[in-house]
Amino acid sequence: MVFLKAKCNNSFQNLSNLTTLSLLVLQMDVLDFMQLYCESLTEYRRLKTKEVKIGDLLLGNVHPIRVQTMTTTDTMDTMATVEQSIRCIEAGAELVRITAPSKNDAENLLYIRNELRKRGYHTPLVADIHFTPNAAEIAARIVEKVRVNPGNYVDKKKFELIEYTDADYAEEIDRIRDRFTPLIKICKEYGTAMRIGTNHGSLSDRIMSRYGDTPMGMVESAMEFLRIARNESYHNIVLSMKSSNPQIMVHAYRLLVKTMFDEFGECYPLHLGVTEAGDGEDGRIKSAVGIGTLLEDGLGDTIRVSLTEDPELEIPVCKDLVKRYVSRETADVSREIIPSVNNLPYDPFTYQRRETFEVGNIGGKHVPVVIADLSKIEKISHTHLQSVGYTYDKTSDKWNISDAAADYVFTGNQVVDFALPGTLKVIVYPEAWTRVKDKTKYFPIYQDSGYIETNAKSDQINFVMVDCFNDGADSFTYLDQLANDPTVVICLSSMNKNAMQSVRRMYVELLNRGVKNPVINITDSPDNNREQTADEHLIHFATETGALLLEGMGDGICLGMTKKKYDQLVANYEQLNASGRNYTNNLTIEQFINSTSFGILQATRTRISKTEYISCPSCGRTLFDLQETTAKIRSRTNHLKGVKIAIMGCIVNGPGEMADADFGYVGSGPGKITLYKGKEIVKRNVNSEVAVDELINLLKENESWIEPA
Ligand code: SF4
Repeated sequence: MVFLKAKCNNSFQNLSNLTTLSLLVLQMDVLDFMQLYCESLTEYRRLKTKEVKIGDLLLGNVHPIRVQTMTTTDTMDTMATVEQSIRCIEAGAELVRITAPSKNDAENLLYIRNELRKRGYHTPLVADIHFTPNAAEIAARIVEKVRVNPGNYVDKKKFELIEYTDADYAEEIDRIRDRFTPLIKICKEYGTAMRIGTNHGSLSDRIMSRYGDTPMGMVESAMEFLRIARNESYHNIVLSMKSSNPQIMVHAYRLLVKTMFDEFGECYPLHLGVTEAGDGEDGRIKSAVGIGTLLEDGLGDTIRVSLTEDPELEIPVCKDLVKRYVSRETADVSREIIPSVNNLPYDPFTYQRRETFEVGNIGGKHVPVVIADLSKIEKISHTHLQSVGYTYDKTSDKWNISDAAADYVFTGNQVVDFALPGTLKVIVYPEAWTRVKDKTKYFPIYQDSGYIETNAKSDQINFVMVDCFNDGADSFTYLDQLANDPTVVICLSSMNKNAMQSVRRMYVELLNRGVKNPVINITDSPDNNREQTADEHLIHFATETGALLLEGMGDGICLGMTKKKYDQLVANYEQLNASGRNYTNNLTIEQFINSTSFGILQATRTRISKTEYISCPSCGRTLFDLQETTAKIRSRTNHLKGVKIAIMGCIVNGPGEMADADFGYVGSGPGKITLYKGKEIVKRNVNSEVAVDELINLLKENESWIEPA
């Protein structure tokens, strides 16, 4: 952490290789670093971590962000695991993790490893360990890395709230030291790396008793193990703080970085991931919101995207996430400099929504609104509105409104020539707005100076665009004139290379100046010449917008595309249905963007519009076909807005890792499913043939069911 060192040493001796410009930025960027968890809040700068060696692979420090996945085959099935590992490696996996639930599985890693080497594949393997130190000690002699979960390596979780005295607590730490130290010694002897991988859902009773299932509890859970390893002078360590809730996960990683710097003055490499992210579009959005937010801040040395899909399908998503940063650090920042942050007016370790007053249905206590951009459609018809959630029934002359219906549409200069659904409002350019009669349905959007200069203003809502640090422009010029105008909704956007940081910097200014107008985050596709896939757009939107929403910043979102990008995507229309998305064939770009908008709001838990599925990616422990079962449960329950359903492959880890799900469907034996309400078992060992029906019955018994429309 360059400027941490600079501040600590009260000198810039470590910075001799930096340019004068970056040194200047660096000096300006020094703020109360107790608040900080990254090198810069105003530009992308990768956090330098300790270097870790995993076989021949170097990870951390200046090395590229590594991508990895985990097999889903039975570890005892050597050939199936080898074949699947090869598919992952050929897709680009730089590490392949394999579960080792027992000593036999751990021993079988030798055959898997040998077969892979024989076939010319030298990618490092990682043994995934839960509950079985014996298996870890075997695996550490065979593969290049072991992953231990500090929540269950020594402790058996009983879901009991136990009071621990200081003496009890210290005694438990001694017990961990006794059980964990042999593994460290083996790792040192064999040159094996280790991941201390905390999961939000599987914290030990000891940690729960003192910290609850909080980000701080997750951090302390890892730190207990890390301190023991450091005392043994073992440093070949990577850490992770996973949760199925991106908000919790982001805060835990930030706190971990800060805690490591505070305690050790250095940081171990970070493995990023959102657990049980699900499948298809939702899984990709959730992963990008969590992982992307941290990558934007320069955190993360390796990533895994946990999808309920074949593991090789995770790798392109990882690559899409990582490639956004390949040339970011070396980008020409001289024309795009963002003013430093001298006072961070919010707490980056907890979620708090920025306080605003309401303008119409935007801001205040309202959930963030969705604005759909229909401006590229030449003549908007009833059918176009269907792609943003409004279905017109000609016979009854009525509109059906879905849970994911946009609140506003932006139509540019176009005034729609048919009666609109009652709840839908339209944003147009000022010239068009002066032409419309119904000024309760149409609202103007101005550039900042345009709004200040015009007399033609809505007495209800005026959207005012403020560009954030494009081409070095002073973006603060009009803020005080817009401030607290009760009709103004500020729309922030940026084409800066560090677009998210630019918009976040504007929020910092709004907070520091006490500006309480609601704000819409306008996120455009990147302004580059490269053609992008639908997944790349999705990941871009989810990262840039999600990162702001997780900070409590945003009373609405509008995702846009340049005309060029829009046309490219239209030309490659079939991509929209690639990668396991569950779209119908008549999808339009507008539907893709609208669905992405609601997906981002759901993933950030700022607006719930659909059922949430927390489904594990499956592994060698899995007791049923997770992909098929998830699809089956989804098809029966996807109308249950706001209900969180976990679908977990095994009873060993499933209940712990399904975190805050309302209901759980967990494999408990071959052909057997155990159903949960929260963490409580309600139906044990149900025959899998009737288990989905039993789940529906459980939803009905708990008033969480409504009949589908
Ligand atoms: S919950 Fe799923 S991914 Fe986790 S150990 Fe069980 S089967 Fe494997």
